[in-house]
Amino acid sequence: MDEFALINRFFRTAANAAGPGVRLGPGDDAALLTPTPGCDLVMSMDTLVADRHFPADMPAADVGWRSLAVNLSDLAAMGARARWALLSLSLPEADADWVGGFARGFASLAASVGCTLVGGDTVRGPLSITVQVTGEVPTGQALLRSGARAGQRLCVGGVPGEAAAGLAAWQRGERDGPLVARLARPRPQLALGEQLRGVASACIDISDGLLADLGHLLAESAVPGADVHLPALPLSTALAAAGDDASRQAWQLAGGDDYLLLFALPAEQVLPADCHVIGAFSAEPGVRVLDASGQPVPVARHGWNHF
Ligand code: ADP
Ligand code: MG
Repeated sequence: MDEFALINRFFRTAANAAGPGVRLGPGDDAALLTPTPGCDLVMSMDTLVADRHFPADMPAADVGWRSLAVNLSDLAAMGARARWALLSLSLPEADADWVGGFARGFASLAASVGCTLVGGDTVRGPLSITVQVTGEVPTGQALLRSGARAGQRLCVGGVPGEAAAGLAAWQRGERDGPLVARLARPRPQLALGEQLRGVASACIDISDGLLADLGHLLAESAVPGADVHLPALPLSTALAAAGDDASRQAWQLAGGDDYLLLFALPAEQVLPADCHVIGAFSAEPGVRVLDASGQPVPVARHGWNHF
């Protein structure tokens, strides 16, 4: 199968030819889109390299899902609604089974959030995937990293550490179970992001690790520090049963790939369902991890950094 046959069979589909704001999807020289009046466009792009961002032997459908999910998570962190995606695929060979699986995983997540794949590029090369997404947010209402203030609660939209525990399980040879699913099929928190508009004062998604991404948020904020309360970190049944105390703590604090929203909540705002208060922003510079008695706990690693 050549490049054009692959595109026509798997990406030039009926679902991709129509969608909110889509005048023209894959097939012409470029896509034609109509933005919603009164909205800002929100754009983001992420590249996934095999064996760096996902195990090369991960099922193709999971790779497809995941490559869109990590992008949609950035839209969620901005409080945006997902609209359109572009996909650049670099493939070592024209393997129709693999591309078909990939397209299926990608399309199932896209359909579930109302995002349309409107174009892309397909080339031969080492396995790598770049996705660009565009979302929309009512003008001026996007959630930014910059609004946190001292005294505000530090909150997270789920259980951090499950994806890292899933990666450890994968590396031990496990191929299913709830933790592996959190790694293979992260669920971008788009509904929560929209709910946090006008509620959270700052927001970021956890991709590199809780402490690392908290540092990224602080770097853009006027507030210089935060305290993370170790006993307040939530545990699921699956995470509680995985690994020893030390590995679990490392997964919670520094494991990447969770794609949960981390946000600052002012005193007058109510905590949304399924979210947890895990600490507070502080005028004291730096990030501290505190134990049950309020004593600082030494932390070896904060998260991922590619260089
Ligand atoms: P060009 O040579 O003009 O760049 P291409 O052959 O790369 O055109 O692409 C032809 C059409 O197929 C374009 O509309 C492009 O957006 C679409 N396309 C190519 N690859 C993909 C892909 N992986 N996913 C979705 N659409 C794609
Ligand atoms: Mg092209």
